[in-house]
Amino acid sequence: MKSIGIVRQVDELGRIVIPIELRRVMGMNEGDPVEFFIDDQANRLMFRKYQSGCLFCDSMESISYFRGRQVCSSCLRDMAPQPDVDSMAVLESETALESGEQSEKGKMGGKGANALRRLAEVMQTYPNATQGEWASQLGISQGYVSQLIRKLDKKA
Ligand SMILES: [Zn+2]
Repeated sequence: MKSIGIVRQVDELGRIVIPIELRRVMGMNEGDPVEFFIDDQANRLMFRKYQSGCLFCDSMESISYFRGRQVCSSCLRDMAPQPDVDSMAVLESETALESGEQSEKGKMGGKGANALRRLAEVMQTYPNATQGEWASQLGISQGYVSQLIRKLDKKA
């Protein structure tokens, strides 16, 4: 910021005249609203032609309208549809479950408990089958079956 060498006096009503050259430069016309800014040390007052900026970041750059509010192109990009986070989280949880890292609480725990119960049933029905055969009965991997069996062993 630099001084442009113009000094004006404040009148008895607190008004100052904005020099015509500056109004031209700033595109200020009669009746235009102006917005004031004060710096952190409160020793400088600034103003500009009022123009509300981005709803989120106050930027004035490439503003467009989203549901009647002004949003800059950068925030608009951030709002663009993201990959479905919920389904990704479920996918990760299922992977964790398969690798036996999932704890037994929460909704995935319920699923794990369910798999244990089904495995116990299959093992009772086919006591002489292999782990691979139990796995294909349940539609899960053999590795998962052996993990479940280890859990069953712990419970027993
Ligand atoms: Zn923005």
